[in-house]
Amino acid sequence: MTNLVRDVGETVESNPDAAAIAYDGAELSYEEFWKRAGRFGKALENRDIGEGDRVGIYLPNLPQFVTAFYGTLRAGGIIVPMNPQYKAREISHMLGDSGAKAVVTLAELVPNVREVQDVTDVEQVISVGADVEGVTAFDEFIADETNAVVDRADDDVAVQPYTSGTTGTPKGVLLTHHNLAFTTRANASVPPGGFQAADRLIGTLPLFHIYGMSVVMNGAMYSGGTYYPVPEWDAAAVMDQLEDDDITIMFAVPAMFNDMINRPDADEYEFEALRFANSGGSSLPLEVLERFEDLWGVQLNEGYGLTETSPVTHANTNDARRKGSIGQPLDGVEAKIVDSTARQSDAPGDEPPEDEGLETVPRVEEGPIDEADADLHEITGELVISGPNVMKGYYELPEANDEAFTEADGTRWFHTGDIGYWDEDEFFFVVDREKHMIVTGGYNVYPREVEELLFEHEDIADAAVVGVPDERRGETVKALVVPTPDADATPEEIKAYCLENLAEYKHPREVGFVETLPRTTTGKVQKFKIRDED
Ligand code: AMP
Repeated sequence: MTNLVRDVGETVESNPDAAAIAYDGAELSYEEFWKRAGRFGKALENRDIGEGDRVGIYLPNLPQFVTAFYGTLRAGGIIVPMNPQYKAREISHMLGDSGAKAVVTLAELVPNVREVQDVTDVEQVISVGADVEGVTAFDEFIADETNAVVDRADDDVAVQPYTSGTTGTPKGVLLTHHNLAFTTRANASVPPGGFQAADRLIGTLPLFHIYGMSVVMNGAMYSGGTYYPVPEWDAAAVMDQLEDDDITIMFAVPAMFNDMINRPDADEYEFEALRFANSGGSSLPLEVLERFEDLWGVQLNEGYGLTETSPVTHANTNDARRKGSIGQPLDGVEAKIVDSTARQSDAPGDEPPEDEGLETVPRVEEGPIDEADADLHEITGELVISGPNVMKGYYELPEANDEAFTEADGTRWFHTGDIGYWDEDEFFFVVDREKHMIVTGGYNVYPREVEELLFEHEDIADAAVVGVPDERRGETVKALVVPTPDADATPEEIKAYCLENLAEYKHPREVGFVETLPRTTTGKVQKFKIRDED
């Protein structure tokens, strides 16, 4: 068993003077960072906030996020990270559901916290930035002394992020100290030679989301590298920073890489220090991958994961990679593709049997397959995962837990809700999310296949495909595209292009042009918003 606080404590001891965090021209050494985290932990303890208590962190990527995160862990608390774009209504659910006692936030977000204090248990508000009357400023809050690390069991909960995909009421995901430590270590071994103390990691992925938190922040703190928090995504500014700060490792989402390659001055940049790049969070269009590699000569590897799996389960590496694949399972993680139709046909309310068994779907010889020619029904199924990175469960949601897990052959399998296939070399391919599948006139269409084709069109910079209701066919395919600046294709031409390249039932019958697509901060297209648009 492993534990992140112990791991980072050891890094601090062996690496006290190296820069842990670099932000706005200033650096915080490992020794200083650990002391500040200890002083934050002590301040919590002084206010009777400790073992098992929840602390909300409602901040953009800033050094104080890292301090508050490790300070809370040192005090034995549990972090509830929240997107700083959320409004009072959204944080009310997370703070109320988790029973958080304290919240660390930005001065300008304090009114949102105040609005919900009456209906939650939040007693302590700590603010970063300008002084706010009646609220303790971050630097005043932290105590004079550091605390002694509270030793939590490895399977005690460490963070409770909320997830709902892009719809539904967010569920609290219980991730333990061991979940985090395992994933951080396993992921840190993906680049050649692993994360090194000399690495500089760019923090463009939001820290409230498990991808930025676990892979980038914890990865840096575990390995002794330097973390560069970026509070807001701006492709040009980040590209300058990649050059100026000699960034060596970049983990990001496809939408970020897509913004970078579409910069008109993209080919003027040279990222000489960059030695490893990885994309995750949603599927990486082949066009984006290839353009990135052509421009900057760095391999762009795709990985995969979910909040519920801390997050990484699969990754391509510089040595083992298949374009279009999410890669192979990390060492210690088990994955398979199973036939989930039996499960879905269970009558609602049925108790799941003790051991349902999971029937695996046969592997293809070597992926990727040509999806247009294949009978996807035969080779695809649901991706299920088991391993030390899988969450303890959803917080106080027994029904959601029953649905998410299957006990089979003594192993607890987590159902990802993603549809894919696997090959004999242990490469996995995600076709789409189960719930995004469009059924039109009895045929199944996976939006991702149509999106990939749209990305190949020279007049299209970004694209998303959804199903919209249709009287005759049940649903039909609709595409929203962001044209490139000098595009001249019409919606009719885009439709014709799709018809030429896809089976008739897959082509979008509606094509809309938009300036941008609605995306979450972690790069996922909010498909429900597109469906509702006229
Ligand atoms: P989250 O819990 O916010 O991390 O979202 C997890 C979901 O993101 C997964 O269930 C997938 O649907 C999607 N996802 C993550 N990585 C990939 C990828 N490489 N390809 C396709 N979908 C992905």
